[in-house]
Amino acid sequence: MSSGTSVAVIGGGIAGLVCANRLSQLGINNTMVFDTGKHAPGGRCSSRQVMIEGRACVFDHSAQYFTVTDSRFAKIVSYLHRKGVVKTWCGKIGHLKTGKFSEDKTLTQAFIGVSGMKDIPQCLAESVNLKQSTWAGNISWESELRKWRVDRHGYFDYLVIAHNGKCADKLMSNAGAPQIHKLTQVRFCQQPDMKDKRMQLCSIWALLVSFSTSLKLPYEGVHVEDADISWMANNTAKLRDTSRPQTSTNECWTIFSTRQFGSRNKCPQENIPPKVEREVTSLLLQAVKRVTGLSELPVPNYTRVQLWGAAVPMNVLKTREECVFDSQHNVGICGDWLTSPCIQGAAVSGLALAEKINKHYTGSDRSSTTLIPEFVMADGETIGAFPTDPNMIFKPSK
Ligand SMILES: Cc1cc2nc3c(=O)[nH]c(=O)nc-3n(C[C@H](O)[C@H](O)[C@H](O)COP(=O)(O)OP(=O)(O)OC[C@H]3O[C@@H](n4cnc5c(N)ncnc54)[C@H](O)[C@@H]3O)c2cc1C
Repeated sequence: MSSGTSVAVIGGGIAGLVCANRLSQLGINNTMVFDTGKHAPGGRCSSRQVMIEGRACVFDHSAQYFTVTDSRFAKIVSYLHRKGVVKTWCGKIGHLKTGKFSEDKTLTQAFIGVSGMKDIPQCLAESVNLKQSTWAGNISWESELRKWRVDRHGYFDYLVIAHNGKCADKLMSNAGAPQIHKLTQVRFCQQPDMKDKRMQLCSIWALLVSFSTSLKLPYEGVHVEDADISWMANNTAKLRDTSRPQTSTNECWTIFSTRQFGSRNKCPQENIPPKVEREVTSLLLQAVKRVTGLSELPVPNYTRVQLWGAAVPMNVLKTREECVFDSQHNVGICGDWLTSPCIQGAAVSGLALAEKINKHYTGSDRSSTTLIPEFVMADGETIGAFPTDPNMIFKPSK
């Protein structure tokens, strides 16, 4: 069934792309996804490719890996697996505390994009109408028409807010759906304050660093405790194509700071002053040396720092409803901050909102979700949640 109903999805991260795909499966295929990403969609599930000494090198610079415990998400992962887009990460992943590595015993399976996490949004974007490199800056609810106007892109029957942070707060501030705006208000901090009834986000620095010789560390990904860094991963080992011979000793690492370090060293993320860039690079490299116990680090042949200003939500909606929907104004929200700050959380939220819009459109459920901005602490590590279920070893279906 195909419908004339139109939906504008603002944000082409995992939540927005999954929502648009599901809407299309449900017959609502007049959907347009707007995303700011210049080179690719994906938001916080993306990779950076750079040339280092004549070789193309890939760094996963946001999401590192993901886990699967939800059967609806498992179907999406099966689809991605069939398309050759995801695989399991077989290298050692664990925790590093006071220099001691211990494997993550609770982790049953870790999934990654075959040639970088960017593969996942790229695949999901293939079947949607995507307006890339497009910033939605002005939207309004036209109550007489019962439609949403999105910049100069026209009118839509439904609006999906699939992003968070300052952007969503600003975008919704005068849009004509005040309850939705309340839910998008944010506070940036390093520790959540449970009395504050706003979404609370932390900031994290990423250091992408390459060495021409291997660090020879016995792990490929570690959540780091008691240091200025919270995570480090060897992209070269993680993304290696094992069917090909290894021809280089170059190693590309992604290092993430703690949220405390992110707060202490905050600056405009679009315009990092060179002095801050140098200082942050040096501090994070010192921390790498300390936590790995290496007597010396090789001199890097590439470094780049990036600030994720609105990195990871530290709280989630108290109701744990997987999406938000205001039936008076035909507007919904999906994203990782509604149930769980991770790829699975974002995907499940996108699915739930698509179902909700379809039910509203067909008249089988005209209700709103709870629109009360009440939050509880989110579970997980500094870089998000990794839900696991010891009884669920996921086998992607054929
Ligand atoms: C450093 C870091 C490491 C992480 N590591 C992991 C991990 O290992 N595993 C894991 O599961 N999760 C991890 N996460 C969390 C995970 O990345 C997120 O939970 C998930 O990607 C969120 O998806 P989303 O679709 O909700 O939001 P986003 O990915 O943020 O997508 C929102 C999109 O909307 C776009 N946008 C914003 N404003 C506008 C506008 N006005 N107009 C148009 N487009 C707009 C943005 O550019 C973005 O592309 C990590 C996050 C960070 C920051």
